Amino acid sequence: MPSRSAAKKLILIGLDAIEPHLIMKFVNEGKMPNTASLLKNGIFSLAYSSPPCDTPTNWTTIVTGAWTGTHCMTSFFAHIPKAELNEGYRTLNSKVCKAEFLWNVLEEAGKKCVIVNYPVAWPPTIRKGIVLGGPAPAASPWRVKWPALFLSKNIYEALPPSERTNCIPVEFVEAKEWTPLPKSYSTPLEATIWFAEEAPLERRAPGWQVRPGEKLIEALPYHLLLLDTRGEGYDTLIICKDKNLQNEIARLKAGEWSDWITETVKVRGEEREVIFRFKLVKLSADAREFKLYRTDVFLVEGWSFPDNVAKEIVDHVGPYIEGYEGLVSDVLHWFEEEYYSPTWLEHIKQSVDWYSGVAKYLKEKYSWDVFIMHYHLHDSLNHKYLGLLYEEHPDYKPDIAKTLWRFYEECYSLTDQLIGNIVDACADEDTLVVLVSDHGAVPAWKFVWIGGALIRYGLLSYKWSENDSAYIVDWSKTSAYPFGHTTPYIWVNLKGRDPHGIVDPKDYRRVQED
Ligand SMILES: [Zn+2]
Repeated sequence: MPSRSAAKKLILIGLDAIEPHLIMKFVNEGKMPNTASLLKNGIFSLAYSSPPCDTPTNWTTIVTGAWTGTHCMTSFFAHIPKAELNEGYRTLNSKVCKAEFLWNVLEEAGKKCVIVNYPVAWPPTIRKGIVLGGPAPAASPWRVKWPALFLSKNIYEALPPSERTNCIPVEFVEAKEWTPLPKSYSTPLEATIWFAEEAPLERRAPGWQVRPGEKLIEALPYHLLLLDTRGEGYDTLIICKDKNLQNEIARLKAGEWSDWITETVKVRGEEREVIFRFKLVKLSADAREFKLYRTDVFLVEGWSFPDNVAKEIVDHVGPYIEGYEGLVSDVLHWFEEEYYSPTWLEHIKQSVDWYSGVAKYLKEKYSWDVFIMHYHLHDSLNHKYLGLLYEEHPDYKPDIAKTLWRFYEECYSLTDQLIGNIVDACADEDTLVVLVSDHGAVPAWKFVWIGGALIRYGLLSYKWSENDSAYIVDWSKTSAYPFGHTTPYIWVNLKGRDPHGIVDPKDYRRVQED
């Protein structure tokens, strides 16, 4: 590591919600040798988050050095002055930030910056460097569809309705009219799957809610063919664009992934190239149990600055799939082993290769001085499992905790590989390497409904609205409102400032005390 005055280049690896005490545990157990080497030659420090201790707020603080009130990234949603107190807009957008970004300062100092998947880096604010993706996590405007799982009908029907989101039943029948129909010891079976049958994209990023009746992506058929190639039952799936094997796009056995598949489809009426891949999760010998996973569908281009870099990255490294390392945790019940998911680990390995590959490729091609990236694995991991590691948690079970510790170890080890790959390929004597996180996590199993408490104390009131067929805030009887989804701020409904303000400014402090 260079002395402070000697550092001319920077690698900043942002590891969302990574736990310092777990880093130390796995370092001490020899599971994170690359991190151990950085610790040995550098410094390690705990830090407080800028309140509220969440993702948008703190990734902004890390690259601006400013507190929340200065940069104005107030959690996931920001309240707009003079708007209704229950209205807000998403903060994961560089334009919301009121403080100067580190990358702009560095660019002005003549440094070439590369920023990858950083939550508040999009739209790009630099002019000469490279920005790939953002505004993570899970808000990217380049995601066309969430993942999907195609299931044999019996498996689908056995699922409780609440677990059927983005699951699509598939019915196999005897295969007909294939050219040629390959040899199979059992009757070849076929089915057709469609993109358009899946639940529409409807959440999170502004502009990506599908309105009723609107088709986000046009129907696109894929023909599936099941074969018994060895006389021991069905063992092979062929995915084809039509029933001609010359147009085969994947041939899979259980547990195998397809290559990335690109398609040109109409997205909102416009021809766009999209990319995704399949994994055959399960195929029983009698073909009665079938599970085919398809990753998120992403746009091939549109997520880079300058524009042309996206194509280069896809060609040389692979497609940008925002949140690929973490989002699969939402759909783990789709796979075979919920507490130690090989499919999730495969996602993580693929993402480690992608981030490492991007750093290396861009270093060789563009010779950057500054590389800043964000990686979301550990936040997803904590959301999903952290509580189950703690004996105090009501759902704690020792055997599950043991399995999860093994999974945590694998994840920390893969993160260490990511760090090692980037440092080995890109750092030299003049490079300062920084590993940083935005916040930690605590196991939680009790929740407080702040709105309920405010209602009980007469500070917040709702009334029935015939027009909305729902309860709405009765502003005439509300003196305090808990704004925010994940991180509530309590706003005083102030006369003269808020549209339906009822609290006289002289009573502001009294309402705060209440
Ligand atoms: Zn975070």
